[in-house]
Amino acid sequence: MSTKEDNTNLRKPILKAHTEAAFPKSSDCASSEAKNDVPLHHRSLWQRLGQSFNLVGICLFMRVLFGKNELALPHVSVPSIAWLDWEALRKAGFEGCVFDKDNTLTEPYADEVAPQLLPSLRRCQQAFGGRLVLFSNSAGLAQFDPRGHEADALEAALGIPVLRHSEKKPAGEAATLEAHFGCSPSKLVMIGDRYLTDVVYGNRHGMLTIRPTPLTLAGEPLAVRLARRIETFFVRRWRGKGRTAPQHPLARKPEALYSFVADNKIALW
Ligand SMILES: [Mg+2]
Repeated sequence: MSTKEDNTNLRKPILKAHTEAAFPKSSDCASSEAKNDVPLHHRSLWQRLGQSFNLVGICLFMRVLFGKNELALPHVSVPSIAWLDWEALRKAGFEGCVFDKDNTLTEPYADEVAPQLLPSLRRCQQAFGGRLVLFSNSAGLAQFDPRGHEADALEAALGIPVLRHSEKKPAGEAATLEAHFGCSPSKLVMIGDRYLTDVVYGNRHGMLTIRPTPLTLAGEPLAVRLARRIETFFVRRWRGKGRTAPQHPLARKPEALYSFVADNKIALW
C-alpha cells in the first residue's frame, strides 16, 4: 500500500545514470554487495515460473477474446520507448507514467535499463517531474516479494520507484496506483510490451496504453513466448477487422495519438 513515503519517492531523482548504477556509492557497497552477487530475478526459480504463468491473466484474456477485444489493443505502438514524445504526453494532460520492466525497460530478468533507452527515460523523468513508477509482476508483488526486498534492490539498481502491490497484471484494481500518484488512472500512461498483461490492465482502468516492441525474445521462458504468439495472432486479427483501443478522453482524435510519437509517422493502433 502506498504511503507518504511513496509520494516522497516520487520526487527523488528517478533515473540514475547508467554509470551510477554500475558504480554505487561506497557506503552502499557493503549492504548491496551480497545482493548484487546474484542478478535480480535469478534468485528464485519459483519466482520465474510464477512470473511466466498468469492464470488470472489467461482468464481475463479469454474474456477479452470472447467479448471486449479492444481491451487488448494499445492506443500507440512503437519500436521502443525511445520513439515517444514525453513532453507531448505531458502537455496532453497526463500526469504520470507506469512502466512494465522486462522487455520494456530492461532485457528479460536484467537489472539495468537497456542503454539505448536511457536518454528517453531521462526525458520522461524531466517531462513528468519524476512521476514514474515501475509496475512489475514479480518485484513488489506480495506473492513473490512479501518483504519488498526484490523491489528495494530493483529501485536501487534502476533508480525508479517500484510499486508494492498484491495482484499481477492484468488483474487487480488501480487503487494502489491512484494512491501513489494522487490522480485518476485516466491521467496515467501504461507502457508495457505485453498485450495480455500490460495493455489489458491499462485499458481496463482507462489509462492510455503504449506498447513498445519487446527488446529481445532471447532468454524468455517458453510459456511467455507461447503467450506472445497467441496474443499477437489475435491482436493482428482484431486490427484487421478495424478494431481499435478504447477511446481515451485525453486523446480523442487519431492526430493526438500521432503527436505522442517523435516522428509522428509510426504510431499504430
Ligand atoms: Mg514485459
